[in-house]
Amino acid sequence: MAVSHRLFRLHSSTTVKNTFSSFLIRSLSSGPPTLDPAIGLEEATAQLEKSSSSLSPSPSPSKGRNFHWVFLGCPGVGKGTYASRLSSLLGVPHIATGDLVRDELSSSGLLSSQLKELVNHGKLVPDEFIISLLSKRLQAGKEKGESGYILDGFPRTVTQAEILEGVTNVDLVINLKLREEALLAKCLGRRICSECGANYNVACIDIKGDDVSPRMYMPPLLPPPNCESKLICRADDTEEVVKERLRIYNKMTQPVEEFYKKRGKLLEFELPGGIPESWPRLLRALHLEDLYDKQSAIA
Ligand code: ADP
Repeated sequence: MAVSHRLFRLHSSTTVKNTFSSFLIRSLSSGPPTLDPAIGLEEATAQLEKSSSSLSPSPSPSKGRNFHWVFLGCPGVGKGTYASRLSSLLGVPHIATGDLVRDELSSSGLLSSQLKELVNHGKLVPDEFIISLLSKRLQAGKEKGESGYILDGFPRTVTQAEILEGVTNVDLVINLKLREEALLAKCLGRRICSECGANYNVACIDIKGDDVSPRMYMPPLLPPPNCESKLICRADDTEEVVKERLRIYNKMTQPVEEFYKKRGKLLEFELPGGIPESWPRLLRALHLEDLYDKQSAIA
């Protein structure tokens, strides 16, 4: 606990753009980390630039155009759910930095155990770490012939947004919004199948309407029988940690909304309820309902 607080003080200072965090990673590292611990922000940015160079528009073979989209939104809002649905619909990769971090942290070593401390206490990991992870993922995708992206969980700081803007042209940022009362319940109700990785939610959210807001109903998304006995919770989905993640979101990521708003790229989307209600409306907001209708007709 003490370690994570000390790390966070370093990370949250105004020195993010210098090499303090890389020093931090370097000084924490022992054993063979899977990421280069000596990497600095500049170097990580250069890697990102190189790996994102193929992401400039080239026609997406299946759907006829390329997408460079970003999802913003508080923990629990459903970024992963909607980003992954759009990824299947549009044929572009869904890249969730939270998943990249969790995969990385499942490896052993002091670096990953120290970073796990940050993640499990709801703090952000250093920018250079996340940028390096992202560039590795983009590079791997490039080698497989991927083009375009739907980013989920990145950028989360203005520094990250500036770096991304410098290396690739984001064309749309979808800012998902959900009533505050539902966010915590959605995080606490999240369950993941330890075998296939599918996400479910056991929370049944029913918020009474009043003069200002209508009733909001979000049914649970229950697992099929073959996943039922294998469900696990994310280590950072406890009440205390979710509250901290929400606090950090408001402090560090809300300015990113403003960053994109100023550039005319932000689409605000208020989720009206669960997936059955929200998905068709989101598609309409994105002018994708025709594509969806065509796919449903073929299926
Ligand atoms: P959330 O549900 O809070 O949006 P994610 O799955 O996106 O969670 O991320 C989980 C954790 O991974 C974050 O709390 C943070 O520690 C780390 N993380 C993910 N993306 C970033 C990022 N862009 N910058 C810094 N840390 C990140």
